[in-house]
Amino acid sequence: MSNRRKFIAQAVLGALGISVGRPAGAIQPWSNRGAKPPPTVLSTWNNLPANKKAWKVIKKGGRALDAVEQGVRLVEADPDDMSVGYGGRPDREGIVTLDACIMDEEGNCGSVCFLQEIKHPISVARLVMEKTPHVMLAGQGALQFALENGFKRQNLLTPQAAKDWEEWKKESHYQPVINIENHDTIGMLAIGQDGHISGACTTSGAAFKLHGRVGDSPIIGAGLYVDDEVGGAVATGLGEAVIKTAGSFLVVELMRQGLEPQAACEEAVRRITRKQKGFEEFQVGFLALNREGKVGAHCIHPGFVYALTREDTHEVATASSFM
Ligand code: ASP
Repeated sequence: MSNRRKFIAQAVLGALGISVGRPAGAIQPWSNRGAKPPPTVLSTWNNLPANKKAWKVIKKGGRALDAVEQGVRLVEADPDDMSVGYGGRPDREGIVTLDACIMDEEGNCGSVCFLQEIKHPISVARLVMEKTPHVMLAGQGALQFALENGFKRQNLLTPQAAKDWEEWKKESHYQPVINIENHDTIGMLAIGQDGHISGACTTSGAAFKLHGRVGDSPIIGAGLYVDDEVGGAVATGLGEAVIKTAGSFLVVELMRQGLEPQAACEEAVRRITRKQKGFEEFQVGFLALNREGKVGAHCIHPGFVYALTREDTHEVATASSFM
């Protein structure tokens, strides 16, 4: 387009109140300077006990980072939760492999993926963040690091998960599950009394996945992203779909540009449904929390619920959906 035509087009759009082609650097860091956001704990699925655990930390004036770590550890240790930590369903070789990441208010982050035989990958991820110059450790290296730092090796395959695997082997048919109510990856965001935000995400990933498969949950920007100036986001559902759209980073960046958390989650889901074939067959859900304490929750298929804690009230709410 010639400069003149471009100028006219911009003038017309400008008159209509539509902004085009912001000059570089024009997006101002957005933050709620002034009023502090309300202390909050927000997590994927029906994880009220995890929220309550995190809330105890916040109530005592603890860091949001400690709150999210403590909160998700509860789910990692729960043998009845078959998508996270101990008791998680194994891959197609019958091996439980875990992914987790954590991010604090300063943008520090740590992650482990394809970790085996360690019950609390979130705490290993935190140590990666705090004790190494790296962000992410994988597989054998992550295990070695965990053992060197005092974590104990243990068998994570529970009898129930082994039974499910035996059952699955009869057909050996991998199909992404559209929705697994109440038992799924836990992604958690929290705002402490000091107004700062942190997040954590932990999972055993897709059940009966290929050995070596890593999903979105340990990937900063996909399963989790936090920017203290703006807010945070977490994702659950088919990790491959979330990675392809850098989902949590996208939600946070949309909020930075002025979208409310709900609108940001809706736009991220729309990005997936517009660009990725087969979305009718899989689920993705996003949660967002901004610096004002506003919450957003949206998913592709109905059925995604989340837990919200504030001022001692703990509630489970249902996210809106695209379908
Ligand atoms: N996002 C996780 C993964 O793909 C799984 C889930 O949330 O259910 O590994």
